[in-house]
Amino acid sequence: MNTLYFDNNATTCVAPEVKEAILPFLEERYGNPSSPHHFGGSIEGDLSTARQKVAALIGASPKEIFFTSGGTESDNLAIRGVLSMDTTRKHIVTTAVEHSAVLVQCRELEKMGIDVTYLPVDSEGTLNLSDLEKSIRPDTALVSIMWANNETGVLFPIDEVSRICQDRGILLHVDGVQAVGKAPIDLTQTRIDLLAISGHKIHAPKGVGALYVRSGIKIKPLFWGGNQERGRRPGTEPVPMIVGFGKAAELALESIREDSGRMRLQRDTLERGILERIPDTIVNGGKDPRLPNTLSVCFDRVEGEALLMLMDQNGIVASSGSACLSHKLEPSHVLLAMGVGEETAQGAVRFGLSRYTSDEEIQQLLETMPALVDKVRSLTRRVGRS
Ligand SMILES: *Cc1c(COP(=O)(O)O)cnc(C)c1O
Repeated sequence: MNTLYFDNNATTCVAPEVKEAILPFLEERYGNPSSPHHFGGSIEGDLSTARQKVAALIGASPKEIFFTSGGTESDNLAIRGVLSMDTTRKHIVTTAVEHSAVLVQCRELEKMGIDVTYLPVDSEGTLNLSDLEKSIRPDTALVSIMWANNETGVLFPIDEVSRICQDRGILLHVDGVQAVGKAPIDLTQTRIDLLAISGHKIHAPKGVGALYVRSGIKIKPLFWGGNQERGRRPGTEPVPMIVGFGKAAELALESIREDSGRMRLQRDTLERGILERIPDTIVNGGKDPRLPNTLSVCFDRVEGEALLMLMDQNGIVASSGSACLSHKLEPSHVLLAMGVGEETAQGAVRFGLSRYTSDEEIQQLLETMPALVDKVRSLTRRVGRS
């Protein structure tokens, strides 16, 4: 049985071109880029090529890119890096629907005496910008707002957020992990101070990411050690991962228009098909602007986890929301923040497409899902759950 993989917001497969690009660095090109000899030193050039490619994907300059171990580290480096630069500013603003890399970090910061404002969202998952304006205080160090939501695909109005932060002279960090490679990001057009991105969400391997730090913005590192990444992220660089990330960024930039156009059509077909074939289904955050690859639905009278298990047994891989939190059987904090009832939120399933998703896979999914949902609904009725 071949797997229908619809969990691309959790992670993506490694692109064949990325694997090819990495291989020499797992074989003969194993030098340390910081070494004075040519064997190691020649690797420095490959790091800077990768840095240029990642920078090009987001409209940044290579010297603004700092490689990290992934999105989570980049979010931590951004927020804590800013807070430790000026310890008199003890307030940050974020939203109730952030990824755990920001939310769990904020709860930890609260224990350390930092005040955090969590902006609410409306039933479509969008922000009210006047809430943001009102939340900014004289001691606000940073606004941290995601570009695209990993569960619903809803895109926040980062251009407007950026203008508000600029007017008020407040630094802006954006978690761009889901947006990058799927929505156009051009930092020459949108002024952002810090932007977190991750390799494994765009067909690079797991364990590599980057933090964009706008020229002139100073942050403290999380770790201390050597001068790698100009001291912002010491430690010998994971060269194969970084080279792979560079290649993945190059591929994403080349194909973003075509890929997002195709994924949007496929996602819309999937959405229409599910709503037609499966009664009592709602779409979460279905209004534009949203990511082209994401569909989040709630099937009424369905226990999402039970449905996902049945789907898994039938070779269909999707998720109930964030992979990082899904071992907990609690309803999604994103859907609850959007005002979805607890019971409805339990029936959430998120489908995430990628550039490798085929039209046949969408059709197979549409043909299989109705019977699976029916089965879970009839089981639920039998055990007498309302
Ligand atoms: C996946 C994800 C992260 C975490 O990135 P990792 O590279 O897995 O640490 C952060 N933010 C968002 C929105 C994500 O989807």
